[in-house]
This record gives sequence, structure tokens and C-alpha cells, in this order.
Amino acid sequence: MIESKTIKPIIQVFFVFWVVSCFVACSKKEAEEKATQSEEIITVYSERKEHLIKPLFDLYTEKTGVKIQYITDSAGPLIARLSSEKEATKADIFMTVDAGNLWLASDRGVLQAIDSDALTNNIPASLRAPNNEWFGLSKRARTIIYSTERVKPEELSSYEALGDEKWKGRLCLRTAKKIYNQSLVATMINTLGESETADVIKSWVANLATDPFSNDTLTMEAVAAGQCDVAVVNTYYFGRLVKEKPDTPLALYWPNQDGRGVHINISGAGITRHAKNPSGAQKLLEWLSSEEAQFTFADLNMEYPVNENVKPGEIVSSWGEFKSDDVNVESAGRMQAQAIRLMDRAGYN
Ligand code: FE
Repeated sequence: MIESKTIKPIIQVFFVFWVVSCFVACSKKEAEEKATQSEEIITVYSERKEHLIKPLFDLYTEKTGVKIQYITDSAGPLIARLSSEKEATKADIFMTVDAGNLWLASDRGVLQAIDSDALTNNIPASLRAPNNEWFGLSKRARTIIYSTERVKPEELSSYEALGDEKWKGRLCLRTAKKIYNQSLVATMINTLGESETADVIKSWVANLATDPFSNDTLTMEAVAAGQCDVAVVNTYYFGRLVKEKPDTPLALYWPNQDGRGVHINISGAGITRHAKNPSGAQKLLEWLSSEEAQFTFADLNMEYPVNENVKPGEIVSSWGEFKSDDVNVESAGRMQAQAIRLMDRAGYN
């Protein structure tokens, strides 16, 4: 009896001590984790605009405690900067638009390959580098728009057919000096070959209503204003225009549906060759390709998610489904120089 009376309080004291020490240890561990998290920084050099990346970076920081700092500039200067900074660079991630720019960064040796099951599972093979140095994070479709006042969709069929006689003086194009049409022509060379592509570009030039425009929005506005009847643009510019002016008399057309499909490009990113935090950078890219982040990443710019488990936003979905050209987008970079020469010879400025 006496023994059990003595033992009981001892057990109680030990129990209380155990609970308290566990509580202290657990909160110490949690505090330590938070401390290491808050010290982690990822630096991004981005051509993708601040308003399209900041909301996602803020969300990631809120979730993980990892800080993300970034600068934004055009792809050319950022690639040049990475080349000249070499080991001294602060950048962990290079983010840009157009596969041609990603290919160029890889070609200049400023990226490194990542071995990531998450990235290869989340992103279709045609939208990432065969050497694993860059990965598409959003998909953009470069397609035909037409005047709903002067063109019936049945009159359209393919990019090549924009060179038909009936479109003489009715076609508007963006300048060949900007990468989007260089990439379109590069993927055409990849599929049709150089000589057939050259014939197509010459026929486009012969049909131009006016000199090429400096951007997609001006090109569309020319169609809306009646200066021409058909043009080729990225769908998110069309999305922006009709969001602002819903009565714009323009519509999208999906060409080449009996053949190779609509020309696809990407925005994307890779880890820099001299990244100081490559594992943190990899985790961020994996998260950006995940179902959790993909809707917002694409929808902020009215683009298409690369992750096939994620549906595009309401406006983008309303444009309907279409067959995409699934040639690897790296051909946009690999054949870029050839495309520029070909467009120059065809008189497309
Ligand atoms: Fe753009």
C-alpha cells in the first residue's frame, strides 16, 4: 500500500516532465525549421512580366517561408548578363517567354540540366528541352484571327492557305524581327522543309495589306479597323483585347486541324548553370508545374496550362478545343537562324 502511494506521484511527475520536454523540443524544432526556411532565398531573372509572376512567388513564400527575389528584363540582356556574370551570378532561375529564347540560353551555356520526375510528369515532352535544361510552364497558341464582318470561318483552313490569291491585300502580320513569328516559321521549316516554307512566306508577303506591325495588338487593331481581314497572333493578346472591348468584331480560327495542328509556344524556365540554390530552385519550378500553381500561372495571362490535369480559365476555355502541333518546341530555337534567313530572303521584314 505504502509503496503504491509513493510510486503514483513519481509517475505523475515524470509524465508531466515528459509532456513539457516534448512540447519544448517540438516548438524548438518548429522554430529552427522556420529559421532555416526564412533564410532560404531564390533569385530569378525573368522576362515574364512582374504582374504575371509576383502573385505566384508571394503564394510560394507564404506556403514555404522561402523568399524569392527577381529582376525583370528582356531575354537578350538577361542571357548576356548570365554569360558575363558566370560564377558570380545571383540568379538561380532564368525565366522567359518563347522556346526560342530558352533554347538560346541553353545554347549559350547559362543553364544546367535538372533530373526531376515531377517536372517530366507534369510537363509534356514536346514542351520541355530534350536535354532537361528548360521546361515550359505555360502554353501559348499562335493562331489566325479574322474579321467577323468580312470573313466567314469556312474560308479559312491553314497558315499556308493565307498565301492564297483570295487573301491578296487582306493579310496583316507582325514583324519578322520579333521572335514569335521566327518561332512559327522555324517550326514550319521543321515540318514542311525549307523550300516549301520559303514558298509559303513569299505568298504571305505578296498578300500583305500593309507593312508588318511591331506587335500583335496593333496587328489585331488593324484587322478590326478594316485595314486587313486576317492575321496571325497569340491568343492571349486576343483575350486581352476582347476583355477590354467585348464588341471587337474579331474571332479566333484554329488552322491546320486536318494536319499538324495549331502552332504552340511556351513561357518557361530553367536553372542557371551557376545557381547558388539549385535545390530550392528545382522545388520552385516543380511547384510552378504542379496542379496547385498551374491554373494561376496560365490564367494570369490567359494562356493554357502545360499540366494536362489543369483546365484553362473560363475565357480561354470558351475559345474551344483544338489540335495542337506537338513538334518539340525546341525546334523553334534550333531552326531560328534558318528561319530568319528564309524570311529575309522572302522579303518579310
Ligand atoms: Fe507576348
